[in-house]
Amino acid sequence: MAQRVQGTEDLYGDYMRAWQRMTDVARELFDAYGFDAIETPTLEQVDTFVHGIGESTDVVRKEMFRVVSGALFDDLLARGSEAHLKPRQRMAMRPEGTAGVVRAAVEHNLVPQGGAPAKLWYAGAMFRGERPQRGRLRQFHQVGVEWIGASDPAADAECVIVLMEYFRRLGFDSSTLRLTINSMGDGTCRPAYREAVRRFILDHADEMCEDCIERAALNPLRAFDCKNARCREVMEAAPKVDQALCDDCRLHYGQVKRYLDEAGIPYVEDPRLVRGLDYYTRTVFEVEVEGSGVGAIGGGGRYDGLMELEGGRPTPGIGFAVGFERIYLALQAQGVAMAGEGSGCVYVASMPDQRAAAFSATLALRNAGIRTEADYQGRSLKAQFKQANRLGARICVVLGPDEVAAGVATVRDMTSHEQVQVPLAELASHVAERLGA
Ligand code: AMP
Repeated sequence: MAQRVQGTEDLYGDYMRAWQRMTDVARELFDAYGFDAIETPTLEQVDTFVHGIGESTDVVRKEMFRVVSGALFDDLLARGSEAHLKPRQRMAMRPEGTAGVVRAAVEHNLVPQGGAPAKLWYAGAMFRGERPQRGRLRQFHQVGVEWIGASDPAADAECVIVLMEYFRRLGFDSSTLRLTINSMGDGTCRPAYREAVRRFILDHADEMCEDCIERAALNPLRAFDCKNARCREVMEAAPKVDQALCDDCRLHYGQVKRYLDEAGIPYVEDPRLVRGLDYYTRTVFEVEVEGSGVGAIGGGGRYDGLMELEGGRPTPGIGFAVGFERIYLALQAQGVAMAGEGSGCVYVASMPDQRAAAFSATLALRNAGIRTEADYQGRSLKAQFKQANRLGARICVVLGPDEVAAGVATVRDMTSHEQVQVPLAELASHVAERLGA
């Protein structure tokens, strides 16, 4: 039997409905905040991620699924190197959404000089070659926003506010959400801070893991969230970014916090929150659900250098992404059914001689936007009623010889068992009214 790839999932039934609800809630909420939908390709040139996310990050070095066309594959194996490939031949499945959206903003000049910011939201599958475990998949789904062109700290605060409102609307108990924030500094203050952390790691090399020593050269800040508990313990004593911020970054961060206070959003400051991607500057944030054991359900931050890294003019930006699968697990743990009630349906039951009348009635109901089912297996009337119950039908429309002769249908309420006869011409409007009541 063919099997799905390890670390991937099929979305169907309630799980699929939950994903649809996640995107529906996002569309309504983000629209109110002025974000337009965007869909960028799942495949991008590797360079889009190398420039944006950073060559030294785990995501780019180890976790990206690389793609070459079948025609080039054998050649690639034979040569044992990709050095001969052109940039457009080196592709990857997107490991996150921001780099592609920012690439699109540059390519289509979505933030013209002196123009208004671009406010975009997306929903789709992301791919990372990770070791699959609970809440960590190789193909997972994110919903996110990117606000490109806004430097005001109010944009940072509004991103956090809309993120927390999103979680509230999905059904989370807000008191279980833990929002952590930090400022990672910018091009002025971060290089010196990175250097200080690098020196600290090298000074403590005998106490830290191989990965962290490697990180010292490439991406020292990542040592703060090493999976190794001993490394994290050692890093407790490392220099903290809050001491290293330049005046502009300190002012910006202070203003973000004032806006969050004003909006009544509780947060915890953690100077060790660094997040895994190189493009972040200044504000970063992450949300966890207490007791859920699934890690962060969402996070984001400011990326004022990213447009330039993708070949555009220097343009500030900020955004976040949330992960569907972890949200689903965390909501389940809180006893919240994310898919909500099924929409139910109307069932049209008929005898063989009235099949044509049932066919017309079914079409009329569907054309009125009512989810309608009927029998397509030649079952008895009794079996059709059973099937209607299994499908959760709220109303059953019965078409027997007497009804059809009189030009009416019997409309049966499956909960109250109340029955009325309705002229066939008024069937759809009558049923719609009942369902609306
Ligand atoms: P990141 O892009 O790493 O900041 O991730 C944003 C959100 O996506 C996280 O908070 C998670 O909810 C989700 N996420 C990231 N990686 C995975 C993964 N491998 N499997 C499932 N969800 C993930």
